[in-house]
Amino acid sequence: MHEEVVPLGGTNDWRKRLISMPIPNSILRNSTLKQALDSLIHKGRIDRTLGVELYFETDINALFSLAHMVKYARFGDQIFFNQNLHVNTTNICVLACRFCAFRKGPRHEDAYELSVEEYLHRIDPFSTDIDEVHSVGGLHPTWNIEHYKNLYSGAKQKFPHIHIKSLTAVEIKHLADRSNLSVCDVLVELRNSGLDSIPGGGAEILVDSVRDRICRGKESTQEYLDIHRSAHHLGIPSNCTMLFGTVESIEDRITHLELLRELQDETNGFQCFVPYPFLPDFTRLPEAQLATSSEILRMIAISRLMLDNIPHIKAYRMNIGNEVTQLALLAGADDIDGTVGHEEIMHSAGSTAPLDSGVQELVKLIHESNQIPIKRNTIYSQFFVENCEKQESNILPVVA
Ligand code: SF4
Repeated sequence: MHEEVVPLGGTNDWRKRLISMPIPNSILRNSTLKQALDSLIHKGRIDRTLGVELYFETDINALFSLAHMVKYARFGDQIFFNQNLHVNTTNICVLACRFCAFRKGPRHEDAYELSVEEYLHRIDPFSTDIDEVHSVGGLHPTWNIEHYKNLYSGAKQKFPHIHIKSLTAVEIKHLADRSNLSVCDVLVELRNSGLDSIPGGGAEILVDSVRDRICRGKESTQEYLDIHRSAHHLGIPSNCTMLFGTVESIEDRITHLELLRELQDETNGFQCFVPYPFLPDFTRLPEAQLATSSEILRMIAISRLMLDNIPHIKAYRMNIGNEVTQLALLAGADDIDGTVGHEEIMHSAGSTAPLDSGVQELVKLIHESNQIPIKRNTIYSQFFVENCEKQESNILPVVA
């Protein structure tokens, strides 16, 4: 039989493909998983009751198989990554979220704040290899929008080919407050200075009672959603995240997924969902839960099943490490983030994920899961097939 080829970058016709795929007996025999599969095939939604049931599903291998089937229906064997660099602008922050090991007070000996020159200097050595800079940081007590406009316009002038993905929702809110501007005006001014997209960080758990315990003072659930909504309305794409394993309940996690799914129905501006577990080292949350590897994979699988309208589910290597990332590629994830180069936030909290992985290491990691590495740009509009055997940059550019 001739198998239909999935276009590079994936297909939106994934429900149709799902119908024609062979279904393992472990799923057919399992009423919860069968119900989830039927919902997805018939354009139904996995509701919160079923979402919670999936969370407590005991046959985790069958759960992972179902999530992988759904990922396969969209993307076939393709796994995405990019060539990027993380540059954290400052670790000085006016807040003190209890899970955060990154922030410092302004007088702390390890506090830093990058000038425009230092920011450009950080990017410079990587600039010929990367096409994205990911920049987030603390809420600086004195910086206003002018500093960020200078950072982005300086970067665009010097490295015009580099996409700037920057500022979490709370940083945008902070800049609006500090600059006496609306969120919308901040986004417009920053976009005009070179901001291309925004990352999803800071979502934590979108339930205010949980936020009050782990990150009091941060933007509310509604503010997080409104800031991303404003960005989407302005044509600025964004990602969304979930920090799980602090003090939230399973129901809170499902609420979080439902809220993101609702906003995506409205705007279609989220490109990617990134669920990652709380890392407890050097933080101030002794009552936090600790996510095991199987719980991380379970969360990734459920995200794939519930977020039927967000195309990409990322296994965030910087947080979960390469080994769990490889397993996640068979449990619903289709993206492993990028080369990263430099990372402080997760590493301050105890991550030991390697920071020196180049394209070949990422290609190898993906090949070892028997899938096809596809280098993408930030907004998933260009795709390049990467071949591990060709050690050079023998990249076939293909535009989706
Ligand atoms: S998570 Fe962000 S806002 Fe909260 S303390 Fe850390 S740097 Fe500041």
